[in-house]
This record gives sequence, structure tokens and C-alpha cells, in this order.
Amino acid sequence: MSFYSEYLKYKNFEFNKFLENITSSDIFRIINKDKIDEYDFLALLSNEAEKYLEEMAQKAHRLTIQSFGKTILLYTPLYLSNFCINRCSYCGFNIENKIKRKKLTFEEIEEEAKVISSTGLRHILILTGESRKETPVSYIIDAVKILKKYFDSISIEIYPLKEDEYREVIEAGVDGLTIYQEVYDEDIYDKVHIAGLKKNYRFRLNAPERACKARMRNVNIGALLGLNDWRKETFMTGLHAKYLQDKYSDVEVSVSLPRIRPHIGVYEDIYPVSDKNLVQIILALRLFLPRVGITISTRENQKLRDNLIPLGITKMSAGVSTEVGGHSSKTKSDSQFEISDKRSVIEMKEAISARGYQPVFKDWMHID
Ligand code: SF4
Repeated sequence: MSFYSEYLKYKNFEFNKFLENITSSDIFRIINKDKIDEYDFLALLSNEAEKYLEEMAQKAHRLTIQSFGKTILLYTPLYLSNFCINRCSYCGFNIENKIKRKKLTFEEIEEEAKVISSTGLRHILILTGESRKETPVSYIIDAVKILKKYFDSISIEIYPLKEDEYREVIEAGVDGLTIYQEVYDEDIYDKVHIAGLKKNYRFRLNAPERACKARMRNVNIGALLGLNDWRKETFMTGLHAKYLQDKYSDVEVSVSLPRIRPHIGVYEDIYPVSDKNLVQIILALRLFLPRVGITISTRENQKLRDNLIPLGITKMSAGVSTEVGGHSSKTKSDSQFEISDKRSVIEMKEAISARGYQPVFKDWMHID
């Protein structure tokens, strides 16, 4: 059995009918429960629940402090390459886009590592476009060997791997995986992934579980908010995270909540997700999954990111560039998307401290 069986259970579920019937007394009852089930979680994503965000926020705050304390882990992404064979309609790296392509040499990776680590960050997320030809697993492994000298935790956000390949990168020093399903709705998935290997919905859907089986330390999943009704996508993301947490209790599971940002090339078929909707998503997820990590990236603006800190966020990016070579190189590439919060690591550290939270640069290290 895989998460696909869970997805199928809800594929034809009448979401709108269920959500329309939620009442305020349902929401009060759910907020006051010790443990909420998946239907309660869905109810917290309803229009009715939007009226009770303050009550949800108080509980979300308490649950987050209970599991994570007042801490925010900081990391930054490092783009190794923007070569990509896929045609995802919503992404600037899409093979059809005539952008400046670049792949870092190992010397350039070392330069980027030096610049980033001089900020004090010890957690890094390496990203590539999806091209096994330009960035094969062997290239990722060699990059990780360099980065290990500078960072204590290395996560990857690359094309989905087979289970034995996840074992190989773990062996090389990777301890985290980020992989977004982008959109759980299988029909929309097929529509927005116009061509390329990424069209294989199930291979991607099962990637987080393959990483868990390979004993990845932490696995971060998510949907790209804006590709479908956010209520349905958040529901499936929450179910997916719960499935992984229940089945692989030794893996740290987290979710990211990326909203579509402007990028090179145009994607207009967007289902809007307002700031208020994003708050509701975070609160409902926290009430459903008290131990799940929640990441908010620099796609969101400074003011919103700061205001989200007490509501359930556990991890934030800082000092971000979405260009290949963006931290040190003079010859950068085009970016994947425009970032909104451009603050440096020091500025983020100060903003987190000002909220009474501790910015954490390192919460884990590998001992040989
Ligand atoms: S979303 Fe990923 S796979 Fe799709 S075009 Fe962008 S980089 Fe390539």
C-alpha cells in the first residue's frame, strides 16, 4: 500500500458539500478536542472556520511551543543548476523558457559554500532543475562531499530518486529531502505538467515514502498553492504528512506552504490563496499535526512572515537567492521565481529575536 491508495479514497469526495455543512458549533467542538481526525481537519479549512482564526491561533501557538519551543530553524537554498527537461507550466526553469542556463562547477560550489557559511548558517538545501543528464546523482554526491565541510545538515530538492539512489545520497551526507507534489489532484497534475518525466504522478507521489524507507532523517512535502483549490490541496498535504508520520515514526516530517510567485513565462490559471487563507492553512495543519514542522519561505513578504512566526512556523529561509551562483558568482543565471522577503541572515536573526523567539542555526550534526 502507498499513499496513492489514500489519495484514491478522497479522489471523488464531495468536498464542497462537506464544507458547506460545517457549523460554528462543529468548529468549537473541534478546537476543544485533544486529538482531531481528518474530517475535523477538513472542517478547519472551511469558510465557517475562517470566523474562528483567533481561537485556532491560540491553540496552534500552544501546541507549537509544546513540541518545538520558541525556536525557528534558519536555512538557505543553494541552486546548483537550472537545467531542466520538464515543461511545468508554472515554473521559470521550464525547458521552453529561453533563460540563461547554468550549472555550478565544483569550484563554484565551494565558493558559494564559503559565502553562505560565513553568515553562520549550518543548514543548507541544495536545488537543481530536473535533468539527470546535466545533474546526475554522481554530481549531487560530489557536491555534497564539498558542502559537508561547511554545513551540518544538507537537504536536497532535486528530481525524484529511486530508493537505492536515496540510500546513496544519504551515505554521501544528505539528511533531508524536500519534494513537492505540486498538486495532488491527478487531473490538474497531468494538465500543468505538459511534458517531461515529471508527468509520472505516482513516481513523484511515492518519492517521500521511498526516502523514508531509505532512512532519510527528515522529509519535507508540500503542494504549490495556487494550482488548485487550496482547501483540497491542504487537506491532501496534511493526509500525506500524517501517512508518513504514522508509518515512519523515526522520520521528522515537515510541510512547506509555497504560493505561486511571478516568474519568467506566464501562468495565469491560478486559484487565489489570500494571506488570510494562508493563516488558516497553517493553523489547521498545526491543530491536525502538532508535531509536524512547518516551513515558510521568502516567497512571502517580510511583514507576513514575521506575523506568522507565533502561529506554528518552525523553519524559515534567509539570505535567499533563486539564481544559480546567486550567493557569490558574478555570472549568475536567471532566477526560478521572484522572492519577496529579501532580508539577510542577520536581519532575519534580529527579526526572529524581536518576536521573542530563538533563531537556530544548527539543531543537528552527523557524527561519523
Ligand atoms: S518545477 Fe522543477 S521540474 Fe518543473 S520546470 Fe521548474 S525546475 Fe523543472
